[in-house]
Parts: sequence; structure tokens; C-alpha cells
Amino acid sequence: MDTKIIDGTSLARAVRAGLRSRVEALRSAGVVPGLAVVLAGDDPASRVYVRNKGRACTEVGLHSEQHDLPAQATEAQVLERVRLLNGDPRIHAILVQLPLPAHIRVERVLHAIAPEKDADGFHPFNVGLLATGHPAFVPCTPAGVMRMIESAGIAPEGRHAVIVGRSNIVGKPMAMLLLQANATVTLCHSKTRDLGEMTRQADILVAAIGRARFLTGDMVKPGAVVIDVGINRLPDTQGQGGKLAGDVDFQSVLGRASHLTPVPGGVGPMTIAMLLENTVLAAERSLKQA
Ligand code: NAP
Repeated sequence: MDTKIIDGTSLARAVRAGLRSRVEALRSAGVVPGLAVVLAGDDPASRVYVRNKGRACTEVGLHSEQHDLPAQATEAQVLERVRLLNGDPRIHAILVQLPLPAHIRVERVLHAIAPEKDADGFHPFNVGLLATGHPAFVPCTPAGVMRMIESAGIAPEGRHAVIVGRSNIVGKPMAMLLLQANATVTLCHSKTRDLGEMTRQADILVAAIGRARFLTGDMVKPGAVVIDVGINRLPDTQGQGGKLAGDVDFQSVLGRASHLTPVPGGVGPMTIAMLLENTVLAAERSLKQA
């Protein structure tokens, strides 16, 4: 089978291009959409992600601010920073880069973000809206996946979507979005018995596990659409020089799936594009409420 590769890099470029006219319209109404990214600690991967997000903002004409806090910052200090940003009229969207240092309770911080500035859609108010079918801010990674599926001309309606991974940031919202698109959804996790039996039933298979090359070709139904959310850095010891790998074993799925997303160049760039879109959306809504 000829597997079509869904190119996240070029799709993200098209999303960014589409956002420029919306940013222009906002600017002519006197509003420059602003995103604040809070980074606590010195996780090297997080630093790279945050830098990429800042660059993408500049490219489409958004204002972006990076708020660095030291790894020893207290929970109260992080909460205080979020509160300041909640009240800052130049900031329309706030993202707290995860993971946070272990001594900081993630829930406390995410719950402190004003729901109308919740760029990642992780606040329980927005999670609830998504779960009840009235999404306001959709988490960026699953939103990006939906856009990729759409761009490939695949309608989830009536199909069996199997998601491996049930995190709050990827798996669960992914399930909500696919359900809303009328797919029949199965959500798998580390306690799922006979994972392969589940994944082989999938018309649409989403891998969000965090284990390099975990889903192999024999776990994929011929003709399935396979979306690889995973970003794993391979250890240098494998002679791979710290290369990135997805959760899907690309080579063994190639020729078996009808569609497949690469890593890098798949879901990653789309996640950033959706962040920009959520920021623009937040600014547009603030203007309507003014
Ligand atoms: P996570 O919070 O660690 O969740 C991983 C999920 O995978 C959990 O639900 C876990 O099950 C499940 N799992 C682990 N081992 C399994 C196994 N052997 N069989 C079946 N299920 C298993 O990870 P995450 O934050 O969702 O991220 C997942 C991956 O996506 C990571 O590689 C991450 O780097 C990547 N990611 C990429 C983007 C992007 O922009 N492309 C964004 C976010 C995340 P339990 O719940 O039972 O533990």
C-alpha cells in the first residue's frame, strides 16, 4: 500500500499564513494579540519548545513574552506570575510550559489561569466545555491532530478511532474531539489488556504514549490512518546521536497504513500553529467583549 505522509510542517505553514489576515484585522482595531509563556526551571527540551513558540509568534505578528522563573521558584511565585498576567491587558493568552518542577502542583497553577486566557485549554472550565461539546479553547496538540486528519480528507464519522495514551493534555481531549466528530472511540493505556488486539481494530490510530517506536506495523490494521504524537529523544548509546523518534515505528508502519504522520515534522509543528490560533482567538474574543 502506498502510505501518504501527512506533512505537519507545510500544513502548519498554511495555518500561520491564514492567521496573518486575522492578526492584521486585530491590529487595525488597535489590538496586538499577545501570548505569555511561563517557563519555570531549566529543562532543556522545554527551553527549545518555548523558543520555537516565541519565533512562531513573531512570524505571524503576535506579541510574545517569555517569563523565566528559576527551578527553585516556589509555587506561590509561579501563581503570582500567572495572576499578574491574568490582569495584563496586553496579554490575551497564557501558557505555562510543562513539566513544572516537581515541588509545584500543576493543577494549582493551571487552575489559576483565567479561562478566557487559557491558550492550552487545560483549565477545568475549558475541559468541561470540551467534554460537554461546546469547546472554547481546545488543547493544541489534539486540535492539531484533528486539523491534520481533516486536511487529509478523512472524515472520522462512523470510524473506529483508537487512542493509546490517556493524559489530560493529549489522550483524553483527543478522545473528546474524535467523539464529537462522530467516531467510535476507544481509549487505551498502560493497563489495557492485549493492546495489539485493540490497535488492530483502529481505522484511525493515535499514539500518545511517550515510548520510542512502540507501535509497530503488526499492531496496525492495513489501510489505517496512523497519527504519531510521540516525541522521544533516542539515547546516544543506540548510536542515534540523540535523534528524535515518535511512538510509532515509522518504517514498519510505512506501506501498511493509508496515512502516517512523521516525527519530526508531523504533530509538533501543528501544535505550535494551534497555539498561535488560540492566541488570536483569545484576542478576537477580548475585542468582542470590550
Ligand atoms: P504521558 O502523560 O506520559 O502519558 C502517556 C500515556 O501513555 C499514559 O496514559 C500511559 O498509560 C500510556 N502508556 C504508557 N505506556 C504504555 C504501554 N506500554 N501501553 C499502553 N499505554 C501506555 O504522556 P503525554 O504527555 O500524553 O505525551 C505522550 C507523548 O506525546 C510523549 O512522547 C510526548 O513527548 C508527546 N507529546 C508531543 C506533543 C507534540 O506537540 N507533538 C505534545 C505533547 C506530548 P497510564 O495512564 O496507564 O500510565
